[in-house]
Amino acid sequence: MKYYSTRKTDTTYTLTEAVLQGLSPDGGLFVPAKLPHFSVEEFANCQALDEFAFKLLEPFFIHDVLHSSLAKICKRSFSFPLPLVELSSDLSLLELYHGPTASFKDIGARFLANALSFVLQDHDKLTILVATSGDTGSAVASAFHQKDNIQVVVLFPLGKVSTRQEHLLSCYDGNVCTLAVEGTFDECQKMVKATFANEKIASNFNLSSANSINIGRLLPQSMYYARSSIDYFQRTGKEPGFIVPTGNLGNALAAMLAQKMGFPIREVVIANNKNAVLSDYFATKLYQPKKSIATLANAMDVGSPSNMERLLHYYPKIDDLEKSVSAYSVDDEEIKNTIIKVYSEFKLAICPHTATAFNVYQRLSSRDWILVSTAHPAKFFDIVEPLIEKPVQLPNDMRQLLAQPSCYKTISTDLRELQNFLGK
Ligand SMILES: *Cc1c(COP(=O)(O)O)cnc(C)c1O
Repeated sequence: MKYYSTRKTDTTYTLTEAVLQGLSPDGGLFVPAKLPHFSVEEFANCQALDEFAFKLLEPFFIHDVLHSSLAKICKRSFSFPLPLVELSSDLSLLELYHGPTASFKDIGARFLANALSFVLQDHDKLTILVATSGDTGSAVASAFHQKDNIQVVVLFPLGKVSTRQEHLLSCYDGNVCTLAVEGTFDECQKMVKATFANEKIASNFNLSSANSINIGRLLPQSMYYARSSIDYFQRTGKEPGFIVPTGNLGNALAAMLAQKMGFPIREVVIANNKNAVLSDYFATKLYQPKKSIATLANAMDVGSPSNMERLLHYYPKIDDLEKSVSAYSVDDEEIKNTIIKVYSEFKLAICPHTATAFNVYQRLSSRDWILVSTAHPAKFFDIVEPLIEKPVQLPNDMRQLLAQPSCYKTISTDLRELQNFLGK
């Protein structure tokens, strides 16, 4: 399989090149030259998640040096359950938060980390530089922790993430280092971008990114849509629709790609918070990035989704997109009311991101839906517990991480401080 940029299809790259570079040199995003097509029957004998993932992902790895390592990468990455829980006859919940840092980002981050560690065996040291508004940083830190020859530097905005998020970002030792920036998330992101743009520094430190535009995070995310749609279809004989809490559009795009690859997915519904980028796009037929607004579902506070360029690549005409995709926006008041309602109806605590999907579900006609649950409610206990008036149980992995000491260094938004730090 060859890869090219969304902006220039006549230069091709290998998968390894696309994964190492993250972003194409022309500023576009890498996409595979074509999508494989599958039938449900082909997966009849793939019970284990890692075997299923191998079968789905193998076409994307053909002719790449990573092909021979794919089985091992899948085994190491898909090592925790992704349960599909039936809530009622027409409603199931896909729980993607059973990984070590309790958000779906563990899946893509671990796959990318395992893939990169095979690429690097004979290469120099690599430095992963990542800015986070909360969940990405901990997933990336956990995924790369103790990987040989890889150093991780995580930047987060001091005082602007929840206390638990902060701890989960800064409880790793060894090859992971956490920097608290006296600034906003946008400023952290700007510092990362400026450091990548500095060619001397980028090549000296062999910088690489692990943010959600990396194709090595996107591809493995299609796996759980493929798997759960087949499971649902085999149980009920019906094709489910997915409702996906969305920010940078990585997770929802993975669902759309699974649909394009032939899996039994009726439709994909995007749940935005107050950052109504996608629902505005459908309403006005014009894509307009905006400044992000802070909401209770903070991992979705994105005004300019980084995967939009891939979406427009796969669906250049909005009329085609509208045939299988729609979008809705949910405000903070609705998020709070939904958390309360879902708890009283199902005795189920949900995080504010997952609440956007439940809220959209309530507005849609009742027919086979799978709601995507993107994070464990314990990560957002300060929002969830006062609403449901009950404590939320900590998952074991999170309990262990919270018991570790945490440590970070505080820096200003002055780029030289970050660059001096890399020099050490
Ligand atoms: C990152 C994140 C999202 C948004 O996912 P995208 O792929 O950026 O659209 C939703 N919920 C949670 C809990 C997240 O951490």
